Amino acid sequence: MKIKIDNNSGFCFGVVNAIETAERYLENHSELYCLGDIVHNNMEVERLQKMGLKTITHSDLNNMKDATVLLRAHGEPPSTYKIAMQNNIKLVDASCPVVLRLQNRVFNGYNLMKELNGQVVIYGKEGHAEVLGLAGQTKDEAIIIGSEADLDKIDFHKPIELYSQTTKGKEGFASIIKAIERKIEETGNNTEFLVNDTLCGAVSNRAPHLREFAKQNDVIIFVSGEKSSNGKYLFGVCKENNENSYFISTIEQLKSNWFKNDVLTVGICGATSTPMWLMEEAAGAIKKFSELNKI
Ligand code: SF4
Repeated sequence: MKIKIDNNSGFCFGVVNAIETAERYLENHSELYCLGDIVHNNMEVERLQKMGLKTITHSDLNNMKDATVLLRAHGEPPSTYKIAMQNNIKLVDASCPVVLRLQNRVFNGYNLMKELNGQVVIYGKEGHAEVLGLAGQTKDEAIIIGSEADLDKIDFHKPIELYSQTTKGKEGFASIIKAIERKIEETGNNTEFLVNDTLCGAVSNRAPHLREFAKQNDVIIFVSGEKSSNGKYLFGVCKENNENSYFISTIEQLKSNWFKNDVLTVGICGATSTPMWLMEEAAGAIKKFSELNKI
């Protein structure tokens, strides 16, 4: 049985930057607080915890003073920077530059919509860290749309400026745009509708590649934390193209009956928050299964 790790999978540059920033800091300090899990991957979080990284929540931040806190790649709303200033907290800002640029665009869009009596709409997951950071640019006035079921939150008679969370899928974003266009058409008005495609290429460019990768292998093992948005999306891409695709977060979730004798090729891939070492461990465990199956 051939086992191949997809060389396009693994950390995106935003996550690499956040992790390297934490590692660099911890070379000379015994501890560093991180606001939220540094990546949506428990195994990698545990590895960094052993080096001294301590995950805190926003309510912990409110009660802290004189500490050093890392901001992860997802970015933060302005309120976080304000609390840090009030509490004399030093920030090590590892927000991804792509997210920071998007925050800036949302802020400008918000000011424009204010002038036009319009609305900022964000296609993303309600409560997701990046979405909270984006909504913060609009004083939390932005309308968050997770699916077409949320469209009734929008007033289709007023101007709309649409953005997407960076890690959402291309297909979902395209159908939200079409659905909004249909709703506007139904009103009979010529409502202004501005679309900003703010999907991150580090995620959306992986989808076409994964489609081929999924087709080329008998079994696909997709390794990702359960909380990862792009993990859900990219696993969906694999599953659509190969029904023998399995989602795992830990090696223990692998099942030997997925690798029966008629399985000749296994492809291992993952999300932008999946460490390469975890995919390599999965490859090692699958190799053992294949050896046992031969006996
Ligand atoms: S997915 Fe894109 S926007 Fe998000 S952290 Fe990675 S590089 Fe940055």
